[in-house]
Amino acid sequence: MIESGLRELAAALAARRISSVELTTLFLDRIGRLNPDINAFVTVDPEKSLKMAAAADARIAAGAAGPLTGVPIAQKDIFCAEGWTTTCGSRMLANFVSPYDATVIRKMHGEAGLVSLGKTNMDEFAMGSSNETSFFGPVKNPWDRTRVPGGSSGGSAAAVAAHLAPAATGTDTGGSIRQPAALCNLTGLKPTYGVVSRYGMIAFASSLDQAGPMARSAEDCALLLNAMAGFDPRDSTSLERPAEDYTSDLDKPLAGLRIGLPREFFAGSGCAPGVMAAVQEAIREYERLGASAVEVSLPNSHLSVPAYYVIAPAEASSNLSRFDGVRYGHRAADYGSLDEMYARTRAEGFGAEVKRRILIGTYVLSHGYYDAYYLQAQRIRRLIADDFAAAFRSCDVILGPTSPSTAFRLGEKAADPVQMYLSDIYTIAVNLAGLPGMSIPCGFADGLPVGLQLIGNYFAETRLLNVAHRYQQATGWHRQAPAGVA
Ligand code: GLN
Repeated sequence: MIESGLRELAAALAARRISSVELTTLFLDRIGRLNPDINAFVTVDPEKSLKMAAAADARIAAGAAGPLTGVPIAQKDIFCAEGWTTTCGSRMLANFVSPYDATVIRKMHGEAGLVSLGKTNMDEFAMGSSNETSFFGPVKNPWDRTRVPGGSSGGSAAAVAAHLAPAATGTDTGGSIRQPAALCNLTGLKPTYGVVSRYGMIAFASSLDQAGPMARSAEDCALLLNAMAGFDPRDSTSLERPAEDYTSDLDKPLAGLRIGLPREFFAGSGCAPGVMAAVQEAIREYERLGASAVEVSLPNSHLSVPAYYVIAPAEASSNLSRFDGVRYGHRAADYGSLDEMYARTRAEGFGAEVKRRILIGTYVLSHGYYDAYYLQAQRIRRLIADDFAAAFRSCDVILGPTSPSTAFRLGEKAADPVQMYLSDIYTIAVNLAGLPGMSIPCGFADGLPVGLQLIGNYFAETRLLNVAHRYQQATGWHRQAPAGVA
């Protein structure tokens, strides 16, 4: 049961071959056994999970179940969930119990009837690519426990890879769904900006943040996205569009598909040879499936990392000003004045990477530097979006690596922020443009998973999932599991 996908689990529940309480217990037991080593979950609350499962069973018995009612999944600890500790990986929120549900949580728990197995570990405030900035300690990659799972949704990735949950939620500001999916042999989707509500999702960089599904197949991502997406009047950037069934085109043949290969992703020596070899093989597989490859160009893509590390910290410095010790979260114990209370609270509550981002962000927004950094970065952002628009005139999807390397060792990049930032060299431009992007498994290099990135035009989620699903039917890389978890 624990290796099944969402559709099989839902079918087993609907046919009463297993109850949600039994299924949830199965996963909770595994979490109890394996989580102390992997550290994928920061909060489990079996009593709450089982209560949700019992409610789902009652709904199934009453004939009122939706497609995923009773299926248990894991939630990244960036989503506020009523009554659940919601930490965002930070000491600042280590004891914060949310009084309300994020819209995605309300949709998944309430409307869809999904069960939460717990909250997953993450880089502090989603800032990182290795999960090492978490206040709750690093997460181990189930494929090799001396290596990182990627970040910032590293706990979600490790949980699904180790079969502690069949699927999980993630968020992606610069690659945080796709890069950990790549490093853990998972399928992850970052939707078009505005497709999934950000209400109740703790903000990092609001113009870039977007939530999405992480699972072991494109089909499961489609099913979970159905439960997450939709217009929300409580998020001013949420888009009002007709509801879509993201599973509708999964099986559509790929004949005639034009795959764009950005010259800049395939030139130079930035990518590990084993990763490039697996990506090249995936291109040949797509050609066998009837697609044709065309060269495209994203001439400003080399500016995406520098532009992101101005824009994201700028927005973060503003968003994180709310953590001041007054209404909720950590508050320093000793202080003489109000100013001292703020200063000590923030000095104690935030870790080093978060402080670095707040300092950079405050600097680039300050008088005298705003034009030189922030405005320039916004201009680059526009050029990057224009590059994609031009590329999509000659192709339907863009393909490349997700991450320049496979999972690196714990500690390997922890002392070198620039090396860490470069882990997202292929993913960040997608966020700057607001486009949908996926990572799917495409093979192994030295025994470690390699991720293939697929980028679509705005609102092309259904098409991307189709392109991913057909490849998964033909190859089966996504069905490989790490040794010792089954
Ligand atoms: N690794 C990137 C960063 O540290 C992206 C993180 C994310 O997508 N949340 O900012």
